[in-house]
Amino acid sequence: MTREKSANRRRFFVVTVLFYVVTVLFYVVATLVARRRGYSGLGGRTLVRCRDGHLFRTIWVPGVSVKSLRLGWWRWQFCPVGGHWSLVSPVKDGQVSEEDLAVHLVPDDIPVP
Ligand SMILES: [Zn+2]
Repeated sequence: MTREKSANRRRFFVVTVLFYVVTVLFYVVATLVARRRGYSGLGGRTLVRCRDGHLFRTIWVPGVSVKSLRLGWWRWQFCPVGGHWSLVSPVKDGQVSEEDLAVHLVPDDIPVP
């Protein structure tokens, strides 16, 4: 291997690692900012609402999703309350009363982000 090829490989490796580090840092900072703005469940079990108004908790880790399609602030995922696919979004702390939670909240979604 020539010295130039070796340098190119090293440069590619450094750029790739840097890309992943910056991406992870972006999601960590975004999660912390969202939590400070009232979305305390982000990064763990998060209270979400589907387009039909159903409430349920799901694992919501910014940047990570296995069971849903990420669309910015929304996700396309299965609603276990209505038994349908829908856009869901996190619910801000204080937007739902304890009474609403008791009436509408189902136990939990599957424990996969
Ligand atoms: Zn629903």
